[in-house]
Formats: sequence, C-alpha cells, structure tokens
Amino acid sequence: MPLVLAVAIVASQDRPYGDEDPHETYAGEMAALRKLAQEALREPSSADDTHAYVDLLQALLGFEGVDVWAEHLDGLNDEEFEVPCPACASENFIAFGTHGYFSTTDSRYMCEGSARKVPLAPRHPSEMADSARRLHARAIADGRPGIADKLTFVFGDAHCADCG
Ligand SMILES: [Zn+2]
Repeated sequence: MPLVLAVAIVASQDRPYGDEDPHETYAGEMAALRKLAQEALREPSSADDTHAYVDLLQALLGFEGVDVWAEHLDGLNDEEFEVPCPACASENFIAFGTHGYFSTTDSRYMCEGSARKVPLAPRHPSEMADSARRLHARAIADGRPGIADKLTFVFGDAHCADCG
C-alpha cells in the first residue's frame, strides 16, 4: 500500500539529509497524505480487513507527526508488543488478543506451559492521554470495536513479569 510506504519514510528517524523535519519542509504534501489516509480509513472496501485498517491508522499517525506510534502501532496486528522493563530491563511480551491479555517474559507464551503471566489492566478511554483517546474514538467511529478494545489494553497498565 503506497500510503504505508510513504509513512515509513516520513516517520523514519534514520534520515540521510540531516535534521530537516519533513513535517515542516513538506507541510503541503503531509496535509494531502493525511487527507488520503482519512479517506481510506472510511473506505468500506477495507471493512473486513483489520490488518489494512491498522496499517492505515498507523499511516495517519505518521502524517500527523506522532512518530512513536507511526512506527509501532502495527503491534496491534501482531497482538503483541515487546518492551524492556524500566526497572529490571527484562524483556517483557505484552500480549493482547487470542492468547489472552497479560505480560510475560516467556517468548513461547503461546505454547502450553508454565509461563508466568501477569494480567494487563485496561484503561478507560476517559482516562487516556489525548492522542490515545483520539485513536480510540476514531476506531469506534470507524466501526472497529475490536481495535478499540485492544487500545484500552495497549494504553493501559502492565507489570513486569520478573520484578512487578
Ligand atoms: Zn522488571
């Protein structure tokens, strides 16, 4: 999808041409790309394709300049984020979806076994930060309750399975 490629270029921190901010240098192009992404999100033809929807949502965030999520929102499609614990540095897998809603340090948590799983605490949209709340509201408005539900976990609280 061309929009997804475009945003990967825009959001990349690895820029060959110095500190130039594409959001300033190409403000007009960014506005046009935002409009295209918004139109595509409302496109009924992608109604059954959750992966494509998340990719487009990620593209929109990139064109809006929310670079962190423009590079990582696709974790929604994988139903997993991998993050180091800020306290003990253990790699934690934050899983939300088919296998349940929990954090664990066991990368093979999808298999039967004794992996320690700490339940995630979802956050109510009214308690989310602005950008997260907007994302949640957009998913609801676009008829994506499943995505909206995952966002409450992604923006909720997780505890380290090692030291938490
Ligand atoms: Zn820890």
